[in-house]
Amino acid sequence: MSLLVVGSLAIDTIETPQDRRENVLGGSATHFAHAACFFSPVQLVGVVGEDWPEEYTRFFENRNIDMTGMEVQKGGKTFRWTGKYLENMDDRETLETQLNVLGDFVPKLPEMFRRAQFVFLANGSTKTQLKVLEQTQGASMVVADTMNLWIHHERPELMELLKQIDGLILNDSETKLLTGESNAYVAAKKIMEFGPKFVVVKKGANGAMFVSEYEIYLLPAFPILNVIDPTGAGDSFAGGMMGYIASQGEVNGEIIKRALAYGTIVASFQIEGFGLDKLYEITREDIEKRLEQFRKMINL
Ligand code: AMP
Repeated sequence: MSLLVVGSLAIDTIETPQDRRENVLGGSATHFAHAACFFSPVQLVGVVGEDWPEEYTRFFENRNIDMTGMEVQKGGKTFRWTGKYLENMDDRETLETQLNVLGDFVPKLPEMFRRAQFVFLANGSTKTQLKVLEQTQGASMVVADTMNLWIHHERPELMELLKQIDGLILNDSETKLLTGESNAYVAAKKIMEFGPKFVVVKKGANGAMFVSEYEIYLLPAFPILNVIDPTGAGDSFAGGMMGYIASQGEVNGEIIKRALAYGTIVASFQIEGFGLDKLYEITREDIEKRLEQFRKMINL
């Protein structure tokens, strides 16, 4: 079934203790779409400037990601982000965020995207996320991601968004920022009081937790020896999860558990290469093989 993602398309600069790369294709929608497309067709809405390299669009199209909803803003510059990872490769500092065309992006959904059954509002301005919801009709599941920048600067809009979505995915530290609670489970329960029916808390190398009214699922991360670049791990986790759910077309406890596992596995590949390098190398078969290993690791 159709899966729509709206979020950032970016040109990243990434520093790790071992390496530094400039002009890496990035962005929340980029990582999400490249993960989700292993499971389901993806429609993408985003904005770039005139400096966006043509060949980047081909990368998406080669993966059958529908780019009809990408707007190229005349005279504008693409969103740019620079991040630096600390020695543990889990903590990172944002060195620079240039919103550029993302700053005042008003998304216009192509007609055929408006009836998408599954909608993911990837990291980006909450105002933009709300504008998307004004244009979609009858989605079975709407899930959003957010981060510290938007929690700080667009809190009233975020509280409005929470009333309109089914699920929220966010990092451990962001649950605390949003609720003031340091226990992720308590924080997730509090977020559900604001509106969403479920919350997924991403804990980096420590895995993920899914909380709904009657269910809690915990999954560790798949252990990786040589982490090259964690950028996009959260978005590819969400992409694997939502892509699998969209491929099933319905939601129940078993599907959610498997979706969380697929998200975990795709994210584990994502961090084994710079930018999207590793995701370009692997196939669905590699994902299935690693899932089988993971199943053995967590089987009690
Ligand atoms: P993640 O590692 O999953 O948090 O995602 C990193 C990606 O998010 C990078 O490729 C960035 O381009 C993008 N990004 C960073 N900050 C923002 C922001 N404030 N809004 C939207 N996307 C962002």
